[in-house]
Parts: sequence; C-alpha cells; structure tokens
Amino acid sequence: MSSSATHPADDERCPCGSGDTFGSCCGPILRGQRRAATAEALMRSRYTAFSTRDLEHALASWHPNSRPQRRDLAASLAETRWLRLDVRETTGGGPFDDEGTVEFVAIARTDQGRRELHELSHFSKVDGAWVYVRGEIAATRH
Ligand SMILES: [Zn+2]
Repeated sequence: MSSSATHPADDERCPCGSGDTFGSCCGPILRGQRRAATAEALMRSRYTAFSTRDLEHALASWHPNSRPQRRDLAASLAETRWLRLDVRETTGGGPFDDEGTVEFVAIARTDQGRRELHELSHFSKVDGAWVYVRGEIAATRH
C-alpha cells in the first residue's frame, strides 16, 4: 500500500516478536488481505506498521475520532526506530468482544536515545474491524 513501507519478506521473522513469520502473522493484515481477529493481533500489526514505516496501516488502524494528522504521524514514524515489542497483558479483545485492552512495552531508538514506551492501549470495533482508540502511559515496573 504505502510505497515507503519496508516490509520484511513473508518467510522472515515478524517484527512484532510473535515468533511467527511475517507472512503468517502481521503481513496479511498490513496488506489488507485479512482483518485482525483480536485486539492483540491488531496491536501487533500496528507495532509492525510503526517499525516498518507503514503509514497507511498505522492510520487505517486508528479510530476515526482519535486518528492523528497524516503529516504528524509520518514525522513520528520517520524519527523513531522501533526495536522490540513485549505484550504484557490483554483484557477482552477476542473475536466476540467489542472492546479490549492490550498492555505492552515497546523499545525504540530515537535521535534523543533509547525510549521505552509502556502503554495500556484501548481498542474497539468499528464496522466489525478492531481499531486503536487511545493509550495511557502505564507505570513501569522493573
Ligand atoms: Zn506480527
């Protein structure tokens, strides 16, 4: 979709860290070939979109009411290099739910150094598709 996205090959490791291949994990979701069945799958596909600079999926997976401006998100994607995702906990978010949360820690490198994002993300369904609504910064436990 996005000409600037740098997706891995289908037989390479998925950037979201699921341990699966890109072609059987986030790949088909980023390409719009299938929908994320769970809030966690959508969250993973968003992480992969951010880490591969797939602006189209990053925007499309955002709730229309909270979606950022395209140019602001493009700038954010360009300045951050995402290195790792750890999903900590989920609530709801299953195929038969309408809402769900995913708590995760994501590690990034920016011009200012290493950044750790610990977030509790809220997801809901719009027209049967999971979308990201908002996130709260969670307290980091070490
Ligand atoms: Zn994945």
